[in-house]
Formats: sequence, C-alpha cells, structure tokens
Amino acid sequence: MSIISKDIKKAISLLSADKLVAIPTETVYGLAGNIYSKKAINLIFETKKRPFFNPLIVHIPSPDALKNIVSYVPEKAKLLADAFWPGSMTLVLKKQSTIPDLITAGKDTVAVRIPNHPVTLELLKQLPFPLAAPSANPFGSISPTKPEHVERYFKNNIEQVLDGGACTNGIESTIVGFENNEPIIYRLGALALEDIEAVVGKVTIKNKKEVSPDAPGMLERHYAPLTKTFLTDDVSEEIKKHRGKRIGILTFKKDLKNDSVTTQIILSKKGNLQEAASKLYESMHDLDHQNLDVIIAEKFPGFGLGKSINDRLKRATYSS
Ligand code: AMP
Ligand code: MG
Repeated sequence: MSIISKDIKKAISLLSADKLVAIPTETVYGLAGNIYSKKAINLIFETKKRPFFNPLIVHIPSPDALKNIVSYVPEKAKLLADAFWPGSMTLVLKKQSTIPDLITAGKDTVAVRIPNHPVTLELLKQLPFPLAAPSANPFGSISPTKPEHVERYFKNNIEQVLDGGACTNGIESTIVGFENNEPIIYRLGALALEDIEAVVGKVTIKNKKEVSPDAPGMLERHYAPLTKTFLTDDVSEEIKKHRGKRIGILTFKKDLKNDSVTTQIILSKKGNLQEAASKLYESMHDLDHQNLDVIIAEKFPGFGLGKSINDRLKRATYSS
C-alpha cells in the first residue's frame, strides 16, 4: 500500500510520537522530525545515512517563532526575512541554548526557514514544536521533488509521505549566514542571488570548499545520478565523444534532434529558468532510470537561477 497521503492529522500524530514524516515544501521534499526529540533526530540521520557533522535546517511556521530558535537577528537578516519568508531562503543565525547540539552539529549557529507550502505551513501551525527537515533522500543521491520519489527511497523506513504535489521550485533553499553582521551565501539555491542583493546589497559567496564539510550541499559531489554525467557548453561536441553509447541529453531550451541520442529532456522550451529548476531533479531521476551509458547536461546561463542550477549540475557531474 502506498505511504503517500494527504492526512495532516496522521502526520501530526506520527510526528508527536517521535516518528518521521516526509513533508512537501516549495524547494524539495523534507524528511521531518520534532527538533526537540532526540529519538526523531537520530532517526533522521540514520534513515538518510547522513553523517552527524551535517547540521539540519529548522522549519518554523511564522516570524514570531524565530525567537525560540535564535538569540540574535542582525539588521540585514531582518530585512531578508521580511522580504522572502515564507520562501526558499534559509538563515543561519546564533542559536538559542535550547536548540539541541544534534541539530546544529555542535555549532553555536542554527539554520532556520519558513517554507512556502500551504500544506506544510498548516502542519507547522498545528504542531507544538518546529520540524528539522533535511531533503528526503539517502545522503548523496538526488533530492526528491515529488511524493513518489520519496516513496521509492523510503517506503520501508517511514509511514507517511504527506502529499503536497510536485515541488514548484525544485531545488534546495539558498542559505545565508552572517559574519560581522554581513550576509554570506553558504549555498546557492532556489532564491536567486540577484534577488537577495536587491535587498541587502552585494553579498559574498562561500559556496564551495571554504566552508565544507559543514554543508552537504557543498560537498564536491553530492547531487549525484548513478549514470556517468557530463556537463558541457557544447552538447553536440560532447555527443561525438560518446558515439555508439546509449546517450541521454538534458538541455535548457534547445531541441537537438540528434540521431545518436537515446533520450532527450528539454527543461524549459520557453527558456524559463524557474520552470527548468523545478524540473531539474525529476529529469535527473528519469534519465538515471533509463539504463543509459552516459548523461550529457548543458550548462545554464550564469545568472539568476541558472547560477544555482549550474551549481547543482557541477556537483552531479564532478569526477575525480
Ligand atoms: P539540507 O540537507 O538541504 O537540509 O541542508 C542543510 C544545510 O543547511 C546544510 O547542508 C548546511 O549547508 C546548512 N546549515 C545548517 N546549519 C548550519 C550552520 N549552523 N552553519 C552553516 N550551515 C548550516
Ligand atoms: Mg540534501
């Protein structure tokens, strides 16, 4: 029987009994548990096979709940929260002493956001505790953007995927931390860098190894299909190198009409970056399940969400 259901009451009773529920957000599906339950939080790490040095994001229902989670909010963090919450931006701030070390990997800061999904906002409003919710995938595999993806990963481990349909943004939140009260981007994501800079001015990006392994999203190879994947500016050239193989193509808006290609996925025929982002992981799932020899992905334009998509594609194609 399917574990996918819309029953919020069931989710509340499972979560209140220290169990995990996969929840929909506008970014990707999360594997959620009560942040104050040691049992639930341990279960998150165990189920995902996530290393304990990777801290979790706390999900709250409203700006008012922030005071229970963090002890200090810099001026620019307030501006960003006002502008983008609920939404795909996570803030990393000084934590309250009541936040368990397991959540923050022992750090004195905590990552927090208000997700923008009606079902999960309703769930969070009804629960007496916030939820820790990393992406609902085994560590290192592709993040889930549909309830079916989560079911495929975890049907033997959890009792419910709360059904909220397909994720509209489709890639993880943008993570913003603070150093000397100035914003720093720790992970590019579903909220474009330019949108953040429009509110607080120029920000520094520390998206790569400088801050790793604090953040799994920063590991060199993280969002990884099992099929060998190449990222290129020139897809037609790359195809020539793999003649005779079963090739899958992932392009932004181009239709290649190339006979040596087995499968082609165009992420947005209209050339809309948001649409492309929302389909990215699902398309990687699809291609990864077609017994291909190689996947060739086209590099995106280096602005807006294109920059975040390229970040994910680079990690998916990294080879040492
Ligand atoms: P996810 O698996 O998408 O929930 O990723 C959670 C991410 O939040 C981690 O990979 C970190 O990048 C980030 N994060 C959480 N807590 C902290 C923290 N205290 N300091 C820096 N980054 C954090
Ligand atoms: Mg993740």
